[in-house]
Amino acid sequence: MSLPPQGHEFAPPYRLLLGPGPSMVHPRVLHALAQPLLGHLDPLFLGLMNEIQARLRATFRTDNAFTIALSGTGSAGMEAVIANLIEPGDRALVGVNGVFGTRLATMIERQGGVPLRIDAPWGDIIPLESLRDQLTRSAPVKAVVLVHAETSTGARQPLEEVGALCREFGALLIVDAVTSLGGMPVEVDAWGIDACYSGTQKCLSCPPGLAPLTMSPRAMEAIRQRRTPCHSWYLDLALIADYWNDQSRAYHHTAPISMLYGLREALRLVQAEGHEARCARHQLNSDALLAGLETLGLLPLPSAGHRLPMLNCVTLPDRINDAAVRTQLLQEYGIEIGGGLGPLRGRVWRIGLMGESSRQAHVLTLLGALEQIVTQQGWPAQPGRAVQAAIDTYTSSQLATRRSA
Ligand SMILES: *Cc1c(COP(=O)(O)O)cnc(C)c1O
Repeated sequence: MSLPPQGHEFAPPYRLLLGPGPSMVHPRVLHALAQPLLGHLDPLFLGLMNEIQARLRATFRTDNAFTIALSGTGSAGMEAVIANLIEPGDRALVGVNGVFGTRLATMIERQGGVPLRIDAPWGDIIPLESLRDQLTRSAPVKAVVLVHAETSTGARQPLEEVGALCREFGALLIVDAVTSLGGMPVEVDAWGIDACYSGTQKCLSCPPGLAPLTMSPRAMEAIRQRRTPCHSWYLDLALIADYWNDQSRAYHHTAPISMLYGLREALRLVQAEGHEARCARHQLNSDALLAGLETLGLLPLPSAGHRLPMLNCVTLPDRINDAAVRTQLLQEYGIEIGGGLGPLRGRVWRIGLMGESSRQAHVLTLLGALEQIVTQQGWPAQPGRAVQAAIDTYTSSQLATRRSA
């Protein structure tokens, strides 16, 4: 067996990450990741875990005792919630209007559950009336499962009234907030969400590797009442709860120490900015980006009122060469944006303005680069118009702020 050459330390170039995740990471978070390790039962580390729980409760806007950062990416959060709450034979209503709803239906099936799909066209939302109709027809249903921010289409699922509806029918409400948490309101307690998971690599702007997760007392009771133990040992939340619980601290698996340092710092940044200011920043940068893209003929896929501020999904005019533009953006400008998935492949771009990626400078840089590229490709674009439209959005927002002050 021959050894590979010794090579050099890996030194990735600086990229502007404006895709569907991972997002840009603040230097303070990178610094936290590089700190010396502690043992996972060291009192200092246990203190850090308690602090992360408190900060996550504030971020999820909940008092749920069971609020943790699960090991693994957002998908681990998704699988943990389904594997713990859906038992063989359980029926679950699941909204399917994109990639992540489709995955949730698959996961429910793999747990032996019965996914009752409510399909909607990609880019649309699942209407409240459809949920009510299906619940009336299909009772009893163990859970209703919805994706708050469908990253494959840019659609924003309204949730304000779903929790009350679920309670009427005795169903748990499970919500995927992987892309929404940290960029738009996610009100776990006020909206009556029973299980909510997220990921670190989207609007929390931490590298991928942890899944923030919170469960209501109702959801924890459903886990205690299981007829059979959770089929996944690693993701068994009853066992994991015994490690996060300050009274027991029973070893289950070694916590990803450095990732938790990073998450603590990322949550400190979220809290320093403030909930409302952070949501407003995401909205303003999205508005400015969309104003610029419109001048290039790129219009949002979801209808007004159902658009995500952190994931701007725009449809491409026929003659644009999707792959060529994205390659040029990456190779010449160091900017990453996302293409379409599944049926939207080649038909949309997904431009992420998540967490640290959601900055005015990034919006203007991207629009400037896109204008150059599409002009080179013979598109009828007026150089400077897209950037100007975005600047106008920022200016009128400043004027509005000053007038109201
Ligand atoms: C990204 C994403 C996931 C999966 O997260 P990973 O970190 O890629 O595992 C799940 N749901 C939604 C809505 C997402 O955007």
